[in-house]
Amino acid sequence: MSEFPYAGQFEIHRTLPEHGTDQDTILDILSTMSTAENRVWEGGQCSGTMYCGDHDHYDFLNRAFANFSHVNTLQRDMCPSATKFEAEIIAMTLDLLGGSDLKGSTPGGLVTSGGSGSIAHAMLAYREMNASATARPNVIKPETAHPAFDKACHLFGIELRVAPVDPLTTQVDLGWVKANIDTNTVALVGSAGNYGYGTVDPIGELGKLALEHEVGLHVDGCLGGFILPFGRELGYDIEPFDFSVPGVTTISADTHKYGYALKGTSVLCFADEALRDSQYFYRTDWSGGKYCSPGMDGSRSGGLLAATWAAMVHLGRSGYRRYAEAIFSTSKAMQDAVRSHDSLRIMGKPSFLFSFTSDDYDIYHVNDFLRTKGWRMNGQQYPNAIHMAVTRPQTQPGTVERFTSDLADAVAYAKAHAHEAAKSGAVYGGVEGGPTDEADAFIKMFMAAMMDQQMSIPDQ
Ligand SMILES: *Cc1c(COP(=O)(O)O)cnc(C)c1O
Repeated sequence: MSEFPYAGQFEIHRTLPEHGTDQDTILDILSTMSTAENRVWEGGQCSGTMYCGDHDHYDFLNRAFANFSHVNTLQRDMCPSATKFEAEIIAMTLDLLGGSDLKGSTPGGLVTSGGSGSIAHAMLAYREMNASATARPNVIKPETAHPAFDKACHLFGIELRVAPVDPLTTQVDLGWVKANIDTNTVALVGSAGNYGYGTVDPIGELGKLALEHEVGLHVDGCLGGFILPFGRELGYDIEPFDFSVPGVTTISADTHKYGYALKGTSVLCFADEALRDSQYFYRTDWSGGKYCSPGMDGSRSGGLLAATWAAMVHLGRSGYRRYAEAIFSTSKAMQDAVRSHDSLRIMGKPSFLFSFTSDDYDIYHVNDFLRTKGWRMNGQQYPNAIHMAVTRPQTQPGTVERFTSDLADAVAYAKAHAHEAAKSGAVYGGVEGGPTDEADAFIKMFMAAMMDQQMSIPDQ
């Protein structure tokens, strides 16, 4: 395990200090750490995670947040503004995703704490809407759909059926999905696009299956929900994936990714509010008073609603379109660099995110070299592949050129080292994929180290 972060530089607190530290000293400490950590991504070499990457924008969001950071959105009588922000965030997202054109149903939404939260609430809603005393409900997802579906199904006692994908297109095997729908199936899942490859499942075909079998269809637009609509407007070849597709019943779209809001928000859109309403929890006979909450969270900060609303209203369609234009064209230029090498192969039909592999050598050799040049790609397995989720930091001048030349050197390095084992990999600390006792032990150690690092706190 590495050393405890900032050991030797800043005091380690094992107990609550008896006497407090003055505000300026604390703010200096925080700013030293954030300045150092921002350098990792500011140069445009880090895949995903910093979607806007613009400090002026972050400062603006932080000021918006500050007005309501202390407010609990459960107490709406004290903060009618929260209802304005939340209703408008939902309405704007629904409209972006085709909800305004829905006929015969009243669309609705929920603002959740992130993509996993939106997916969990969708799965819970499908379970509750189809609640039956005897049968265990099931959901069918493509293998490439996010593990948040596995987590939600695990938490809510839903059986998850995992459909294989075509190895070349990376899209879900529709025949398998059709063959595995039964009377206990409550929903199908498709991604737009998926996290690993950025590819979009055939949502139109999944919608037909969903209508035919009278089950729900969740489209995971956590990653693509706020950028693919603008890619389509810009003329990129992206199949329809939103509420314009018959059969789509819910869509998750993360405001904290390409919505350019602060971390901790996502929107779950419902074609019909009856489905959303099925998962409310309330308790009217508790001695502490009557209790109800719209989702799984209790108290939430009004600041996040204000900052999300501020990001959307500030950027507007033209702002999102301008950002999408730069991201899509940067991604295409980087993909061209990949395609210029015969030994590299792009996975399926990518968009703002592209993943590539090699049939000639372990692609993690390429990653090994790119790491020495400051690139932080994300890794996939089965087959080994690496991806770049293009965000605004990559659209800075010079980044594509740097990627093109570093990639050429990386390919030469990979060819020269093809007979050795690569240093980096999709394996977690040398543990191969799949559930094993070894993996279990390693994950527990890894999690403990991430959260408290107790093993490695040096004595002072
Ligand atoms: C990020 C992501 C999620 C999960 O979202 P979190 O915000 O990390 O909880 C789900 N699906 C896709 C496609 C994603 O990219």
